Amino acid sequence: MKKTYTGGCHCGAVRFEADIDLGLGTLRCNCSICTQTRFWPAIVATDAFRLIEGESELSEQMLDTRNSHYIVCRHCGVRAFGVGHSPATGESAYGVNVTCLDDVDLDDLASSPISYVDGHRGTWHAARAAIGI
Ligand SMILES: [Zn+2]
Repeated sequence: MKKTYTGGCHCGAVRFEADIDLGLGTLRCNCSICTQTRFWPAIVATDAFRLIEGESELSEQMLDTRNSHYIVCRHCGVRAFGVGHSPATGESAYGVNVTCLDDVDLDDLASSPISYVDGHRGTWHAARAAIGI
């Protein structure tokens, strides 16, 4: 069931709201940056994500995949969300780091299915079709 969550980075400079159905699952990606930062996103459509505060506090760089924006809070370095683009369709989606959600029900998180995607070889976007967005 879709719920509206609030969340943000560690220092609180970046705040967001997102409509997420944890029952649809979350992703773990094996690319170097997701592995090293232990990024654990729920993927949502662009209209399900709202940046509430901190746009000017974000630091962004394009990584070598050229399909994903690596975005962190420039104060605390936390990666609260990312934006990816499907190379096939050009559509964008947000990856909301579920570890940055306020008051997430830990049972909902524990029962959310995890899809392992192969970002290392650049095919992470295939997971979007699997969860229907
Ligand atoms: Zn921060």
